Amino acid sequence: MMNFRPSINFARLNAQLEMLASVNRQEDGSCCRLALTDADRDGRDLVVSWMRDAGLEIQIDRIGNIFGVRAGHEAGPPVMTGSHIDTVATGGRYDGAYGVLAGLEVIRALNDFGVKTKRPIVLGIFTNEEGVRFQPDMMGSLVFAGGMALDEALAVRAEDGAILGDELARIGHAGSIEIGSLRPHAFVELHIEQGPVLDRANARLGAVENLQGISWKRITIRGTSNHAGTTPMNLRHDAGYCAARITTFLHDLAKKMGGSQVATVGSLTLAPNLVNVIARKAVLTVDLRNTAEEKLQEAENRLDEMLDELQSSEGVAIDCAVLARFSPVVFDDRIVALIENVARELQQPIRRMTSGAGHDAQMIARISPAAMIFVPSVAGVSHNPSEFTRPEDLENGANILLHTLVKLSDPTN
Ligand SMILES: [Zn+2]
Repeated sequence: MMNFRPSINFARLNAQLEMLASVNRQEDGSCCRLALTDADRDGRDLVVSWMRDAGLEIQIDRIGNIFGVRAGHEAGPPVMTGSHIDTVATGGRYDGAYGVLAGLEVIRALNDFGVKTKRPIVLGIFTNEEGVRFQPDMMGSLVFAGGMALDEALAVRAEDGAILGDELARIGHAGSIEIGSLRPHAFVELHIEQGPVLDRANARLGAVENLQGISWKRITIRGTSNHAGTTPMNLRHDAGYCAARITTFLHDLAKKMGGSQVATVGSLTLAPNLVNVIARKAVLTVDLRNTAEEKLQEAENRLDEMLDELQSSEGVAIDCAVLARFSPVVFDDRIVALIENVARELQQPIRRMTSGAGHDAQMIARISPAAMIFVPSVAGVSHNPSEFTRPEDLENGANILLHTLVKLSDPTN
């Protein structure tokens, strides 16, 4: 038992959060560092320079994931922490960046306090977590965990026409480390909650034990365009009406199913989209989430049945494309319990919880025991320049990460 307790330097962490946030900051205060753009490169180069200053050995793999290695007394699989530093176009200061820069601050605290861990500690920055420019999201960690072939990922084309592999080379982050050569002993990701659960409960800290499964679909309805005044109601094939039916059906379904089930139609476009014309076409997206795979499948099946019925009753053609599908993830119970113990030792109340958002840790969980630590987002706001987490919560979360990593790096744990 050490008779002193290392702790992080919050002023140093906060200054770096601010410096990274100021890279390509927009007029409304948004962080805009879309994956593999010049702004993302500037953010990466800045953080890599800080990682070098902290004495980390930098390795970049073939999908552009950046790893900073701090040697331990022993070789072998490292304890890893990390997150992402790409953002959406209207990003806040903390989504992703907090997990990376708090991990870096943990490394500096270990340096300052002269702590040499037994296992190595690695700080990871995963490419293209947000998936705005290149799909799918969480791509760097997915490829890292063997869930998507490297060649397939490098060939992904953005809507702006850019090829991912070309962009990676252009910004100087196409590394040479082979995928699969680094396999962590354990992985812990620290992140802001991006939801209202902790803030609503006035809770300061979450040990994330599972993560919702996600089903994204794009539904295209083809009906018949016609005069809104002269076409009798029983002779219509109204794509707009069908889109509205689907929207209310899903809302009611999620409420009826209860539990963790949520359903959202977040995008809906009609054509020709005119006041006096029955819509010929409607395109909408569906986002279904649940922590239980069988419930998520039940929701998907109920939607499929509803679409079949709608197709025949309204005389429209309905196509359904899968945009993303991830099963729910259960994190490693030993690590979750360790996080709780660390919080208890530091006399910080903590609650077990579910993540409503996707995170890199869910991909790493395929190849390594993994878990997450959450700190509150005020009012649950994220992907928005007004995203905010109180300084005391940021500091607290980083200290919990510090002691969790130290414990995991001891082979007796
Ligand atoms: Zn994030």
